[in-house]
Amino acid sequence: MKTMKGKKRALVTGGAGFLGSHLCRHLLERGFGVVCMDNLITGSVRNIEPLAGNDDFKFIKQDVTEYLFLPDPIDYIFHFASPASPIDYLEFPIQTLKVGSLGTHKTLGLAKAKRATFILASTSEVYGDPLVHPQKEDYWGNVNPIGPRGVYDEAKRFAEALTMAYHRFHGVETRIVRIFNTYGPRMRAGDGRVVPAFINQALTGSPLTVFGDGSQTRSFCYVRDLIEGIYRLALSRETGPVNIGNPREMTVLEFAELIVRLTGSSSRVEHRPLPVDDPKIRQPDISKARAVLGWEPRVDLETGLGDTIEYFRGLAEAE
Ligand code: NAD
Ligand code: UDP
Repeated sequence: MKTMKGKKRALVTGGAGFLGSHLCRHLLERGFGVVCMDNLITGSVRNIEPLAGNDDFKFIKQDVTEYLFLPDPIDYIFHFASPASPIDYLEFPIQTLKVGSLGTHKTLGLAKAKRATFILASTSEVYGDPLVHPQKEDYWGNVNPIGPRGVYDEAKRFAEALTMAYHRFHGVETRIVRIFNTYGPRMRAGDGRVVPAFINQALTGSPLTVFGDGSQTRSFCYVRDLIEGIYRLALSRETGPVNIGNPREMTVLEFAELIVRLTGSSSRVEHRPLPVDDPKIRQPDISKARAVLGWEPRVDLETGLGDTIEYFRGLAEAE
């Protein structure tokens, strides 16, 4: 990595995924050298193809639950590797538990050896099916450890505990970002999450599959806003967890209607069974991010969805 000389260097695990690929680009634009590590279990090299010619970018295909060796100095480790969509982590339950536990252990060990700042991609799922609304960082959550979502939720809760242990016991500089539902270009069309699912259903004139009666709520953040928040957190001194997300909350049914309107589709809504332990409400309290990072989302939902719809339209036309 001679070409990265004189630059701050970041390792992004899960860098070929949706968020990881946006993060790699953001870091390159801010003058970092970037090493992207990914085993491509849910990611794709297509996401990082545009970065491939950059001398300050390097891709390593590796499973982060295995021994990690990097000869060069690293200043920041962004640990983003993990299946993230409910469909993916139900298909890969053991890999999800392993990347959250063993993968977090390996990457924290690397951060300790390199004296790097470690940033964990955690999730609003640590709050489970929340009994407090909106969710603040001091809420401990309501998680079913043995339900189907437990493989993801508990892996992330373990990852947070391990991160804090490395901070307290080994003095590693650590950050924890609790990411709320984020959407944007480069999500996988078939990853099952509600944003790509509804957009692609609307674009193909298929029914929008609303799970349950659609009264459960979510709050959607555009990827550019999220990445800016994570970048600010990495450069801050905040070691406690920080929620990053967009507080605008709506029901899934309202969201389906919005997608139909924005795409100009004639699709109708079709109800399907609600998945086990699907959280009934979710909305981030972002007062900590506002106070500590001076951050809040800037992109309104209609604008962000407009860009995302264009992206999926483009994919469909290219096929
Ligand atoms: P994604 O599936 O697009 O990306 C995850 C990436 O991690 C993929 O490229 C995958 O191949 C890689 N990966 C998984 N296991 C690995 C392993 N063992 N070794 C190496 N690479 C591995 O998902 P995403 O939406 O980009 O999520 C990225 C991170 O953000 C995840 O940790 C996820 O839990 C967290 N997160 C995302 C959201 C969201 O709304 N997108 C919300 C909360 C948390
Ligand atoms: N959902 C839905 N239809 C779909 C996919 C998801 O109604 O085709 C619902 C899902 O039950 C949940 C919400 O949309 O209540 C958000 O789901 P997603 O998988 O995007 O993420 P989650 O917030 O559940 O992790």
